[in-house]
Amino acid sequence: MVEGVDGEFTAPDDTVVTRLLPARRRRTVGAWCFVDHYGPDDVTDRGGSAGMQVAPHPHTGLQTVSWLFEGDVRHRDTVGSDVLLRPGVLGLMTAGRGIAHSERSPHDRPPRLHGVQLWVALPDADRATAARFELHEELPVLPVDGAEVRVVLGALAGVRSPATTHSPIVGAEVRIDAGGSARLPIDPSYEHAVVVVDGAAEVGAGPTRVERGVFCYLGDGRDVLRVTAPSSPSRLLLLGGEPFEEELVMWWDFIGRSQADIEIARKVWNDERAAAEAFGTVPDESGPRMLAPRLPAVALKPRGRAG
Ligand code: MN
Repeated sequence: MVEGVDGEFTAPDDTVVTRLLPARRRRTVGAWCFVDHYGPDDVTDRGGSAGMQVAPHPHTGLQTVSWLFEGDVRHRDTVGSDVLLRPGVLGLMTAGRGIAHSERSPHDRPPRLHGVQLWVALPDADRATAARFELHEELPVLPVDGAEVRVVLGALAGVRSPATTHSPIVGAEVRIDAGGSARLPIDPSYEHAVVVVDGAAEVGAGPTRVERGVFCYLGDGRDVLRVTAPSSPSRLLLLGGEPFEEELVMWWDFIGRSQADIEIARKVWNDERAAAEAFGTVPDESGPRMLAPRLPAVALKPRGRAG
């Protein structure tokens, strides 16, 4: 959910979530427009944690990328999916003109939950596409000395993920052993960013030290990115793509191009009958849906990449 919050906050289910994108001066990197990093948290019942419990809520105009490092999450959506997301498995949900889903820690679950949820903005030409969900259990590995590199979305050095994309983009998980170093071949026409999810990393020629919880924007024009894990094993995400030049209106769980797009999506979702017709219903979810909050008093303005 986008509510203009930067930095760390606690979601209603007590899972600590760090909002890394959008940031104040950085709205998108390629078509990546939202990055939440959560955990690792203890989600056992001792302590009373219910783990992740996100009731049915909608999305429009974007793709969600669910990528776990530990634990599992049950995903159900209005196109009939009911799947268990696990580490190493990509859950890609294309909202297009509208989808709704729930995300819940299953009753029998591993003790820890650690993952990211990322959003990819759909280009205007594709944002009314039909909703779909894909689960990818086999993702290609890029052979690189010194690192284990898994291509989650898009392509890296010619190695392509099977997941559906709508713009030139890359998302990869990079793991480096303590003291290790790797040179990642990247596309100079893409802008890139690095997010560290475990340990710390040094990136670039400088190098720049990147800690957990920091969104490190690297710009474009590089054909190689040197990454080092100085003292402990490091796991990071490389996110990039062709700079996304369309201006977006991102509000709550919707992406549109105008205030009217958002108002319509909000109105339809918050009316139970209209929502069932437009978004469908999430299987086996009879409890309360998550309703969109009140719109802000000020107009929602379309914003560009760095706005
Ligand atoms: Mn969602």
